[in-house]
Amino acid sequence: MIEYVSTRNPSIRVRSSKAILDGQAEGGGLYVPADIDLIKTDYHDIIKGDFRSMAKSVWSIFFDDYGKEETDRLVEVSYKDKFSAPDITPLVRVGSKSGDAYVLELWHGPTSAFKDVALSALPNLMSAARGMNDFTDDIMILTATSGDTGSAAIQGFRDVPGTGIIVFFPHGGVSDTQRLQMVTPDSSNVTACAIRGNFDDAQTGVKKLFREIPKPVKGVSLSSANSINIGRLVPQIVYYFSAYAQLLEKGVINDGDKVDYVVPTGNFGDIMAGWYALKMGLPVGRLVCASNKNDVLTEFLNTGHYDRKRDFYKTTSPSMDILVSSNLERLLWYICGPEHTLAYMKQLEQTGEYQITDDELFEIQKVFTGVFSDDGEGAAAIRNVFESDKYLMDTHTSIAWACMEKYRSGDAHFGNDAAATVVLSTASPYKFSAAVLEALGEELTGSDEGNMKKVREITGAEVPSGLAGIFSKPVIHKDVIEISDMKPYVIEKCTKQG
Ligand SMILES: *Cc1c(COP(=O)(O)O)cnc(C)c1O
Repeated sequence: MIEYVSTRNPSIRVRSSKAILDGQAEGGGLYVPADIDLIKTDYHDIIKGDFRSMAKSVWSIFFDDYGKEETDRLVEVSYKDKFSAPDITPLVRVGSKSGDAYVLELWHGPTSAFKDVALSALPNLMSAARGMNDFTDDIMILTATSGDTGSAAIQGFRDVPGTGIIVFFPHGGVSDTQRLQMVTPDSSNVTACAIRGNFDDAQTGVKKLFREIPKPVKGVSLSSANSINIGRLVPQIVYYFSAYAQLLEKGVINDGDKVDYVVPTGNFGDIMAGWYALKMGLPVGRLVCASNKNDVLTEFLNTGHYDRKRDFYKTTSPSMDILVSSNLERLLWYICGPEHTLAYMKQLEQTGEYQITDDELFEIQKVFTGVFSDDGEGAAAIRNVFESDKYLMDTHTSIAWACMEKYRSGDAHFGNDAAATVVLSTASPYKFSAAVLEALGEELTGSDEGNMKKVREITGAEVPSGLAGIFSKPVIHKDVIEISDMKPYVIEKCTKQG
């Protein structure tokens, strides 16, 4: 039996369905499997099937209170007709001047970014968790978005029974593509609303709503879908196994060989899933944490010093622009123990920094390497890989690629015995058409639609279906409101589905 404990309070222990309903533990902690030895398994049992079968195996270990039958059903519902690739996360070989790597494409879902993999799962896990915890309210998800998470959350929650979602985005503050991905979905439980303000205003507004509306409204409870929910993290473990299985199938590695994974990182959720895969018994070599110019994690993984008091850069890989990587707290809990973790998190809140011990750093460095690359290096990677291999990467994947090249040529790589390297690709190049065109040295067309067409002409690759249609779809969600009207707006939208 897997129990989840709060990283900040050992007396909070719950089963997975409750952890998923709660999202964050009371007092601000994150839920983690309390006994890491209990997730240990024989990876051969997991990798023998297709993606769905791997998901069923992984979920049933972490979400054991749902029961095998229900878990199987939830996996099927979550991935039915949502992904354009039959194996959900296909692996593609990409060669370049600096050698081979395998790119794991995580963006064949409805919004063409990797958050789809987890946000297809979480709503169904939440919906089912209600009945298991005598929770009779409907759930209304509130999200503030600077662009990408909002549309992935909408696609995940649309039409899921007992749930609804309201996404607030800054009016005039998102790209045309991002806006249309949010305002065109036509489902009765979905609302997208522009606010007169920037992203910070939207986020502050949503946080305030959670404080001001603590009790259910008309049988509807407010909740969030952010990336610290364990129900978002676990579904991401699956594709580490899927990549390994595909490497075996292609004959690239022999059974038991180690594989390195390079992960474009923001909130540390994706790479944390890789660490859980390692702890389950998958032969993972190194986990290379790739950052953009916001290199707080690179410094931490090299020195043990976490320091968020630094300039914040807006980069061409916006989903990695972050100074506080929330999911790192989970790794600290296992490596540094509950007491140190609590102390470090307090220091981070109060002083903006903390320093772990040398022993702790040594433990972390046994698995993790931190590398960063800036926009220019990322753009060069897009150009070089396209020129040498006709493979087009987006601006997040290209940061990981550039970091992989640095890692391979650096000291940290010395003595590495991994048989292959997998670069996680977190977004379709079409999703960031403008930046991708600029990286290739092409002129922009003046519109997102035009840029997308131009990328299509260059690559010849099909535009993902979720993106191709949005410019001609009718706009369903037209509301634009003041920050001060967010509260009555939400209350009005809360109605139980019955
Ligand atoms: C969210 C996101 C990331 C970062 O993932 P984390 O789990 O937050 O580390 C990287 N790339 C893209 C495209 C994303 O949307």
